[in-house]
Amino acid sequence: DLRNTIQDLKGNIRVYCRVRPPLESELNKPLFNLNVLDACSIDVEKIELLNSARKGKHSFTFDGIFTPHTSQEDVFNEVSSMVQSALDGYNVCIFAYGQTGSGKTYTMEGGCGKEQYGIIPRAFNMIFTCMEDLKRMGWELTIRASFLEIYNEIIYDLLNSSKDQMNHEIKMVDSKGTDLYVSNLKQEEVKSSHDFIRLMIFAQRNRQTAATLNNERSSRSHSVAQIKISAINEKRKERYTSNLNLVDLAGSESGKTTQRMDETKHINRSLSELSKVILSLQTNQSHIPYRNSKLTHLLMPSLGGNSKTLMLVNINQFDNCFGETLNSLRFATKVN
Ligand code: ADP
Ligand code: MG
Repeated sequence: DLRNTIQDLKGNIRVYCRVRPPLESELNKPLFNLNVLDACSIDVEKIELLNSARKGKHSFTFDGIFTPHTSQEDVFNEVSSMVQSALDGYNVCIFAYGQTGSGKTYTMEGGCGKEQYGIIPRAFNMIFTCMEDLKRMGWELTIRASFLEIYNEIIYDLLNSSKDQMNHEIKMVDSKGTDLYVSNLKQEEVKSSHDFIRLMIFAQRNRQTAATLNNERSSRSHSVAQIKISAINEKRKERYTSNLNLVDLAGSESGKTTQRMDETKHINRSLSELSKVILSLQTNQSHIPYRNSKLTHLLMPSLGGNSKTLMLVNINQFDNCFGETLNSLRFATKVN
């Protein structure tokens, strides 16, 4: 349809904004004014932030905006074409960006109960549903999943169950041309949605364990779920592999205490390197600076070329978050 045609012309990067609703316990926190407008063209939506104290108005446009009323299901319906692309053989990245507490993890992993499932489990359910249809057409799919965390520019395997897994750095092997970029990272074959949920919970627990040793670690690290699809059709003598990367980025807030300076420096750097890579891809630069950070290096096979990228910028509407919200929206505009 027309919308897809426009998206095709726009290239392979889409940027969405999601505004999180206040929780029960936050209902009396003051909010700034925010308008979501349908912009004049059919493929963009506009968000306006009104800062009454400073009498300023800031407008940003996105491929789509999810309001506090948008359900997890509706968010997924909008992004499911990316999962379809992965099933069609494209490498895909979906990122959640935003300050701590803006709803990144809720968007990616979700809350309790099926209705609150986020993009990761829904993507997986979709893959399994489509697998049945593909099978009827002669395609055999093998699905493998890995979960990892990047903290202070070190990669940790969240599926490694050894006691001191969090001390094991994962090395990246620079074998251009193949997709073997990360050595000794555990890739588990997944045969059912149930299997996958079990792995996701295992990875979450591992991340929690590391976080109890260092309270803020989980909000100060990038978490990546990688789903690797290998498809083979014996009759047609065809095969392909693709990667679906689902990334819950570290909190984008500017750190204020000197104690956390190192972490903040790493995070700011990797987030800005990510925007640089996306920007260089958007503007067709000949040199893409993938190797300047672990995150972009890791995702190198899935950024650029024929790959597709979707960025979800999570914000909240609290008065005291106005500055950080503005920063997030500016980041989004930079990569859009
Ligand atoms: P982040 O990962 O960005 O730090 P979280 O995803 O943990 O933020 O969200 C903060 C809190 O808000 C959590 O309690 C989460 O369950 C809740 N939350 C986030 N987004 C939504 C939403 N769209 N609807 C309902 N609750 C949400
Ligand atoms: Mg989180």
